[in-house]
Amino acid sequence: MPSVMPERLRKITADIFEAANVPTEDAKIISEILVDANLAGHDSHGVIRIPQYMGFIDAGQIDPGATMEIERESPSHALINGNWGFGHAIAQRAMSLVIQKAQSSTVSAVSIYNCNHIGRIGSYSMMAAKAGLVGIVMVNAGGAALYVAPFGGSDGRLATNPISIAAPTQGDEPIVLDITSSVVAQGKIRVALNRDDTVPLGWLINGKGEPTTDPRDLNGPPPGALLPLGGIAGHKGFALGLMIDVLGGALSGAGCSGSGTTTVQNGVLMIAINIAEFTPMDDFYGRVDALVKHVKASPPAPGFEEILVPGEIEARQTKRRSSEGIPVDDETWRQIQETAAAVGISEL
Ligand code: NAD
Repeated sequence: MPSVMPERLRKITADIFEAANVPTEDAKIISEILVDANLAGHDSHGVIRIPQYMGFIDAGQIDPGATMEIERESPSHALINGNWGFGHAIAQRAMSLVIQKAQSSTVSAVSIYNCNHIGRIGSYSMMAAKAGLVGIVMVNAGGAALYVAPFGGSDGRLATNPISIAAPTQGDEPIVLDITSSVVAQGKIRVALNRDDTVPLGWLINGKGEPTTDPRDLNGPPPGALLPLGGIAGHKGFALGLMIDVLGGALSGAGCSGSGTTTVQNGVLMIAINIAEFTPMDDFYGRVDALVKHVKASPPAPGFEEILVPGEIEARQTKRRSSEGIPVDDETWRQIQETAAAVGISEL
């Protein structure tokens, strides 16, 4: 398994996309967001996606030269038609817009449709937190990628519909919730397949609706399904996923699960909240800091060493992988080499 330094991995990623006619600036954005996901430990949303995205370009599902259009706009909102450009580049620009609007309008929202996969959504909510705002991002898959069973159901009806909320702290790192409304992201099944691993019981059911640890059961045949977040309280993950579908898909016009779309797309809602218009920043930081100290003071349960807050595990992993390099499994590396060779890059 090669371990690759982030700078090199960014260059490889950007070079491959540029060779596929992705504009230089967009290729740079995509490479940063993919490698940031690897740095954070979310390999499911990192460079493993390069071959998949190149396949989307080949299939005409991503138009590398397209630019997004603001279709409707007010000081506090915008509706963006992504025109099927690269999801990461659209989402990054849309988040900059929602941040800018919240800075003058206190609370703002931007909705996106005609947009391919935008990757790890925590990358965008964190942009708001780094600007001193609260950032909220949610995504539905616009009708395709229906991997998640509804609570009590036995086949996939919803996508993994993730939500991320990031808030700034007075320290270096924001607090970042970044979760799917399924038990795990579908990409984690992809990682298990590439590594020839099993998955924990409770992630998946097979085509007969039975619990399974075999990642191949997701696609079948017959196809199985990911379970909604929450285990015995899966009704809550299902409820969350359904409402994200409404906010991501119905509001933007991208379409909701079951609308008949078969290609991958993300219907996106981004919200930014200007904290300083509600309360002095120092007061906000003081309350958040006290909350973090309060939860961290809980005596660790058996099998745990400490309490972590959302975003902390990714911040630690980012520090470690920035200095030690990013482990890329052999199958993913082989696929990246093959993809690079197909666009004329022989040496990585
Ligand atoms: P996950 O199950 O690893 O959960 C991650 C969240 O849990 C983070 O907020 C993390 O800080 C927190 N966390 C993890 N361990 C913790 C601990 N011990 N204590 C406290 N908090 C802890 O991730 P996931 O739900 O499988 O999602 C993976 C990624 O997939 C996300 O980055 C998401 O944005 C991405 N995703 C994207 C799409 C899309 O269509 N664009 C779809 C699905 C998922």
